[in-house]
Amino acid sequence: MKKLSWEIELQCSQCGAPISLEETDRLLTCSYCHVKLYLWTPSQFCYCLPALKASSEHLIFIPYWRFKGVAYSVIPFEVRHRILDATLLAYSHRRLPVTLGIKPQALKLRFASGEIQGTFIKPRLSLHEAVMRIQKQFQVLEGSLESQPPFHREFIGELGSLIFFPVFVRNGAIVDGILGKVIGSEKDLVLDEARSGIPEHWQIKPMSTLCPNCGNTLEGGRESILLFCTSCHVAWNPSSGRLVAGQFEVIPGERDSSVYLPFWMMRVAVKGITLKSYADLARVANLPKMIHSEWEGQELYFWIPAFRVHPSLFLRLSKQMTLFQPIEKTEAMLPKALLYPVTFSEESAAASLKINLANLLTKKRVTFPKLQEITIGPVESRLVFVPFSSIGCELVHPQLGIGLQRQILSL
Ligand SMILES: [Zn+2]
Ligand SMILES: [Zn+2]
Repeated sequence: MKKLSWEIELQCSQCGAPISLEETDRLLTCSYCHVKLYLWTPSQFCYCLPALKASSEHLIFIPYWRFKGVAYSVIPFEVRHRILDATLLAYSHRRLPVTLGIKPQALKLRFASGEIQGTFIKPRLSLHEAVMRIQKQFQVLEGSLESQPPFHREFIGELGSLIFFPVFVRNGAIVDGILGKVIGSEKDLVLDEARSGIPEHWQIKPMSTLCPNCGNTLEGGRESILLFCTSCHVAWNPSSGRLVAGQFEVIPGERDSSVYLPFWMMRVAVKGITLKSYADLARVANLPKMIHSEWEGQELYFWIPAFRVHPSLFLRLSKQMTLFQPIEKTEAMLPKALLYPVTFSEESAAASLKINLANLLTKKRVTFPKLQEITIGPVESRLVFVPFSSIGCELVHPQLGIGLQRQILSL
């Protein structure tokens, strides 16, 4: 798969050494002083593109939103997905390029900071408005390809960040600070009344990754949204700017269980379709099994991967796990095996519920048109680690018969 992440340069807050990271990296280790830090921001991450052709000019930084996510649509008669990766000018100006094109992929970004000389123009468009516009453009494109509107669509965002693009004024012309090309005339760039400054509240706080209880170094992957202490068995959530203790459960594995994959296990409230028990699920999904009477009283849970993975695998895993309904006893002890990092939030998992439901439904000609009236939302969510064994190049869940290429999970 093509690498879609951008590269960012940062200085270690401990020793000053340069650290290179990817856009989605949150947990990083300085290769010089080995300090492990978690990057936190109260709002979106803000980056600057380097001004290659403007060493002595006064730079003006133009804001662009960047959005990355997956657009799912339920069409006759399947669930389709498309990966969206777009940038959009966050400032109303007809002369400036509407998108950044492929620039950021070819260049190293830096975090925006007061140390960078220049004038930062504040965005006029919020990230939410930008995402709505990007979605609308996508829907127009999609609408021209499909004969009828989809039964349901959902955008699951993975990333929203602000990118500043440098320009400068020379001899009455606005010049692209990266390529050195003239974009337009200075008088067209009406920036006098533009509000400037780096967005309020914008800061990066590198947080310590030592367990607040015991001082042990917390475990996690580069893109983790939760960190774990394997000595006092606590899940720590850094999303508020400080570490908040949270719950998790583990299904105990066999001796050969080598990797534990995290899932959001969600009890849901559904309206518009009868879906309360496992027996109801067996009926709507038309399981080729006899419906046992005890299934009528068995609580139903949706199982959604708590890690980012390709959309087609995401849908397949959610379907297989939800149909299987692991009901083993769980414990709150972390195993001495590899814990796959949690990179997909509970909110995103909740937003994907209806798409996952659509993917389970059979008799699609009858059920898909009803999706508009169906509502589904979580009543209770739990984070559960499920053991998998390594067999050759695959990860296998023994009872479930799910085989996953180890390579897909970059193990
Ligand atoms: Zn360092
Ligand atoms: Zn601890």
